[in-house]
Amino acid sequence: MLYAWTTDAGIKERAELGGAVTGLWKYALEAKVVDAVLVIKKGKDLYDAQPVLISDPEELKETAGSLHCGTLLLPKLIKKYLNGAEKMKIGVTVKGCDAMGFYELAKRKQINLDNIIMIGVNCGGSVSPVLARKMISDKFGVDPNTVHKEEIDKGQFIIEYEGGHKGISIDELEEHGYGRRSNCRRCKMKVPRQADLACGNWGVIGDKAGKATFVEVCSEKGAKLLNGAIDAKIIETQPANPKGLEVRAKIEGAMMKLGDKWRKKDFEALGHGRERLKMIMEETSRCIKCYECIDQCPICYCVECSTKKPYLVKPGVLPTDFMFHLIRFSHIADSCINCGQCEENCPMEIPNSLFMHAQQVELEKMFGHTPGVSMELPILALVDEKEERDRLIGTGSDQMYDIFK
Ligand code: FAD
Ligand code: SF4
Ligand code: SF4
Ligand code: SF4
Ligand code: SF4
Repeated sequence: MLYAWTTDAGIKERAELGGAVTGLWKYALEAKVVDAVLVIKKGKDLYDAQPVLISDPEELKETAGSLHCGTLLLPKLIKKYLNGAEKMKIGVTVKGCDAMGFYELAKRKQINLDNIIMIGVNCGGSVSPVLARKMISDKFGVDPNTVHKEEIDKGQFIIEYEGGHKGISIDELEEHGYGRRSNCRRCKMKVPRQADLACGNWGVIGDKAGKATFVEVCSEKGAKLLNGAIDAKIIETQPANPKGLEVRAKIEGAMMKLGDKWRKKDFEALGHGRERLKMIMEETSRCIKCYECIDQCPICYCVECSTKKPYLVKPGVLPTDFMFHLIRFSHIADSCINCGQCEENCPMEIPNSLFMHAQQVELEKMFGHTPGVSMELPILALVDEKEERDRLIGTGSDQMYDIFK
């Protein structure tokens, strides 16, 4: 447990809290610990978070800083476009949901975790860019186009804009339907310890407050990266203040309770049993079968998706058969990491992630399996995808899981 910051003035200037994360990536690229890093940079404006793959350490500066309207999920990009890191060593800055996505894809052999280094950032939550614009306009009374900086600090969403700065408590914003995404409110992956290092501002007190990042070393790989960067004089550290450790633990505990509170509220509003089913059927009846929820879901990557089989889901017909959603529920609910992608990217604004998360939590209660936290396999993972595909091609049978074996 350390406080860390970078010695690189260019990075420090743009960084969120001393630039340890970007400094570590600089070292990783210069020392060829990784071939490239996948990080986030500001695009057109602060509502436009863009993923970028960088191999030249000089280009890292522009990726420093936290974008709270950055709601992207990175693991599937590595699976889709970088061959699951099969042959390339990649460093990635991850939020809790990214880290969970990496674990779920790695379990299914879609990502080679041996070639991935994760630097985790603590995450209190992110804000949908569309809602952020509306919130800044309606609640802050500010033109969102004039905002050049945003931050989340001490429970407030704070903006800096041409002519001043303003902060409003997140609780108040959320009471009025603004603030963090609904999945983020329910999220309990606040310090991503599945990553090799977990970094954040919680627990940085004293003269380093705001100037350094709290680093928890979570693996040998993480320790090696950090030690290398210290030896190369790119990173400086000091032991974390013991009082800071207490503060950090207290905040993490409070965030867990807040997550539980939102889970209770959101799940109760769905009703129970048939009532819940009816509500889900009504809400999903707006579906236009654009497949965006499947495309964005880290767990949906099948070569032949069952929702495209005409005898299960009628093609070219609206409203979409409810079977489309039943298939996804049955395939994903045990492994859903509540990343919010299927909800945020749904053009029909169907709360898909809420529905899936509600079911995942029920399954977790029944079977004790929590997705995304470890490499433990989900309950129904009785077959290997590749073997099963070969069997499917060889025999013509489309039974994915032989649960009676
Ligand atoms: P920098 O050197 O500034 O590097 C930041 C890194 O984060 C870069 O690699 C950048 O590409 C990446 N990044 C920026 N935005 C995103 C994004 N949306 N998704 C993924 N990667 C991104 N810390 C806490 O202790 N408590 C919190 O509640 C908290 N909430 C956060 C919420 C979000 C959405 C993010 C991105 C970070 C949050 N952090 C939180 C972490 C904190 O803001 C800093 O990122 C961390 O302390 C590292 O600071 P740094 O100066 O070393 O990082
Ligand atoms: Fe952060 Fe959790 Fe939301 Fe991911 S789901 S952005 S980790 S709060
Ligand atoms: Fe239907 Fe929405 Fe999924 Fe598109 S993203 S297929 S509209 S549920
Ligand atoms: Fe994320 Fe939705 Fe897939 Fe769950 S079902 S993992 S919330 S995209
Ligand atoms: Fe695979 Fe099922 Fe997702 Fe289709 S819905 S991609 S079959 S997990």
